[in-house]
Amino acid sequence: MILHNKIDKEVLKQQLHKEPYYRHTLSFYKFIEIADPQAFRNELFINFSEMQIFGRIYVANEGINAQISVPEHQMELLNRYVNEHNYLQGVLLNHAIEDNGKSFYKLKILVKHKILSDGLINSEFDIYNVGLHLDANTYNKKLGEPNTIVIDLRNSYEHEVGHFSGALLPDVDTYKESIPIIVNMLEEKQPDNILLYCTGGIRCEKFSAYLHHKGFKNVFQLKGGVINYAHQVKKLSIETKFIGKNFVFDDRMGERVTDDIIARCHQCGEAADTHVNCANEACHLLFIQCSICASKFNHCCSVSCMDQHALPGETQKLLRKGKVHPNAHHKSKFQLI
Ligand SMILES: [Zn+2]
Ligand SMILES: [Zn+2]
Repeated sequence: MILHNKIDKEVLKQQLHKEPYYRHTLSFYKFIEIADPQAFRNELFINFSEMQIFGRIYVANEGINAQISVPEHQMELLNRYVNEHNYLQGVLLNHAIEDNGKSFYKLKILVKHKILSDGLINSEFDIYNVGLHLDANTYNKKLGEPNTIVIDLRNSYEHEVGHFSGALLPDVDTYKESIPIIVNMLEEKQPDNILLYCTGGIRCEKFSAYLHHKGFKNVFQLKGGVINYAHQVKKLSIETKFIGKNFVFDDRMGERVTDDIIARCHQCGEAADTHVNCANEACHLLFIQCSICASKFNHCCSVSCMDQHALPGETQKLLRKGKVHPNAHHKSKFQLI
């Protein structure tokens, strides 16, 4: 079964590389009440397939969260579709910062319980009472105001390679676990301004509403997240306060915003900010590896993974059976950089 999928995947990837047209990588989200997520999912699947759109999309009662790859010649049609659709009207189609057009090779649309796993209960607060969206220029100005706190709502592996200077970086592996930590910290510090940011804006959207519910005022969010910020900074030639790389959840694993390399290879400690998954299928650990260590460890995270990866496929499969995923650790503290 696994082998079969793998062959399919390779065929699909080959097809993608043979395509004679250019693709755009886009992301968008919207919190909106969707009465029948399954029907909406099916409708999207049919329409997006017709437009040869690839990507990963989550649909739930609370809305839609999408990362897609759109053929150049279908962009106009997609824009029209979005503008005319009841559920999609007004969404910001966020263009990737660095785009090789090869972010996805198939379309996957899943109906989920929620589009964002944050552990928050929507019925307990008004999820539409969101913080004010700020453009890049206004966000930069706000950053300089006294008693202002800027919070990165992404996980450790994301902010490790790039973040706003001076941002609070919760040392967490999931967004969900960062929420109570951040709320406690804010209750203690009582800042005048709270500035939030994340990759594309979705986490800030819901979290800013939650902070309002918790009684906080002056909650601001970066419109379109780091992705949109990087575009505006380039377009308007303004100073970037975000340094390094923006981590993204597709095959590219990251988009460079500035040339600064702020992270280190997890194996040798040299400056590096390339995320990889350990080549040993049983491990698959997401970590940062420099090119020298990549060849030294044969794209694995450790000597033991390298040894296991070198075994015949069938032996590896037997070893994998029942094995607990080793990429699971919990830490929760704040790091001020
Ligand atoms: Zn290294
Ligand atoms: Zn490994």
